Amino acid sequence: SCYANVVLQCLTFTRPLTAYLLEGLHSRILLLGPKKEWCFTCEFESLVMLAKKGKSPLSPIGILSHLHNIGSNFGHGQEEDAHEFLRYAIDCMQSACLKEARKKPDGLLADETTLIQQIFGGYLRSKIRCSRCKGKSERCERMMDVTVEIDGNISTLDEALLRFTSTEILDGENKYECDRCKSYERAKKKLTILEAPNVLTIVLKRFQSGKFGKLNKDVRFPEYLNLAPYMSGDDKSPVYRLYAVIVHIDVMNASFSGHYVCYVKDTQSKWYKINDSEVFYLLNSCPN
Ligand SMILES: [Zn+2]
Ligand SMILES: [Zn+2]
Repeated sequence: SCYANVVLQCLTFTRPLTAYLLEGLHSRILLLGPKKEWCFTCEFESLVMLAKKGKSPLSPIGILSHLHNIGSNFGHGQEEDAHEFLRYAIDCMQSACLKEARKKPDGLLADETTLIQQIFGGYLRSKIRCSRCKGKSERCERMMDVTVEIDGNISTLDEALLRFTSTEILDGENKYECDRCKSYERAKKKLTILEAPNVLTIVLKRFQSGKFGKLNKDVRFPEYLNLAPYMSGDDKSPVYRLYAVIVHIDVMNASFSGHYVCYVKDTQSKWYKINDSEVFYLLNSCPN
């Protein structure tokens, strides 16, 4: 369950999120209604409140003991588990926000306007140009994280983002179904970030579907990341400062089992490494 542990640690260092949870609004609003089944957000809220009182490291046993209820997808330290668990946790809090909104008098709230969406959500733009009719189509989709490929000669995060936003040729089995041509055609596709999120989550795709093993190479990442080169929107200063990193460590070089540790930065800009219940202060600041 260390994959869940590291995700929860990192989330407790996500300040806009903890600021919201520390208000205790979630559990207070829910108290008005009938007591129902186990709730991730209630559990996480009380965990964050304990952390505020200086209890560190956190012992999220209340959540970990419910992992079996959460879904059969969570395995035993598999590479993708931390990412899946993060998605699960954020989805839970998103639906809790929507539920809270419905209990208020002016209870209308769109998906896009929840606090969770405002913290983690952004928009991707996908532009496709058909090679036959030269017709262009453009789509925007919500994103909660950016998942980048790191295979081939990628060795830095900037290279991975550059590839993520580079023009891709859709051909062969991957051809584009063109509305105008009414057929599958060769096409060019380009992704860009249209709206940068307030808190950016980047996932390095170390685990490739259909392939055994894990991409174990180093990928350098900066403490300050400027998203401007990868954007099509008009966000003036999409500069991010790193505050949390999750690392998967192979056990016996097998990607199907492993261990997770995380690095987090506190309000005094001090970095810590958290390995299960052990916390280490890092002298050399940023873990990159
Ligand atoms: Zn709840
Ligand atoms: Zn076409």
